[in-house]
Amino acid sequence: MLPFLGPYLWAWPVLERQNPAVKSAASLSLWDKHFREGRRSLKTLAQNIEFQCESIQVSPLIRHTEDDLLSFLEPVQYLEKNSYEPVDGWLKPRNWQWDWPMDPTWAPPDTKCDMCKATPCDCISTLPKNRYRILYYGAKGRGIQARASSPGGLAFEKDQYIGELTGKLVPPDTYDNSMTINLNRSDIDEEPVVCQVYCQDQGNWVRLVNHSCKPCARLVAKIVSGKAGVMLQATQDIYDGAEVTVNYGRGHFGNNDCLCEVCKG
Ligand SMILES: [Zn+2]
Ligand SMILES: [Zn+2]
Repeated sequence: MLPFLGPYLWAWPVLERQNPAVKSAASLSLWDKHFREGRRSLKTLAQNIEFQCESIQVSPLIRHTEDDLLSFLEPVQYLEKNSYEPVDGWLKPRNWQWDWPMDPTWAPPDTKCDMCKATPCDCISTLPKNRYRILYYGAKGRGIQARASSPGGLAFEKDQYIGELTGKLVPPDTYDNSMTINLNRSDIDEEPVVCQVYCQDQGNWVRLVNHSCKPCARLVAKIVSGKAGVMLQATQDIYDGAEVTVNYGRGHFGNNDCLCEVCKG
């Protein structure tokens, strides 16, 4: 998931040349507004502004409608927590013991937290803050760089939880794309997939973590502070300046070459 391989915001001037429709006053004023937000988003203190076009492969060769172009310029909605709304026809997961329909990440109050092994707790609010930067990593697009309190210092210890991937909760098998991850529940018999976390147009910085064939972190389903979620966890010590990466899994890149540092040397 989370690849940012497109030509990003900078594709806009090309799109604009090819699509006279976007020169309407409404388009230009929206563009102006988003351009200003985009400039802010490149500053480390305003990391939470991203645009739809940054996670979509926008080809300058395709003639897009004005609606499409404007949707590419919509900011991604930043989520502190997963968003859940009941959906008609969302089947109760296998071995689900509680009321249904309900938020599939809900866990009974006596469920042990995977971070502190206790209950109740507030671990979810103790995840590291301001320990990352969003950077451009060439052809890979945006990625996440670890940041420590001192240059070269230790940013994350092995096994430390770095953050939670947030997005919109949707029924299992809704999407089959790189912006979606299945969430299974280890506290339920046979560990069923209870939902997918879909982070195309809503989510947080964790969705920007790039793939590596030799990653230093992983995305893993855990229960933290009474809620199931997809956690980003360090699999080795990660130092200041290192890129935080995970393995997206086999077959992710299809016929495209992997752009990671291992494959590109
Ligand atoms: Zn805890
Ligand atoms: Zn690779």
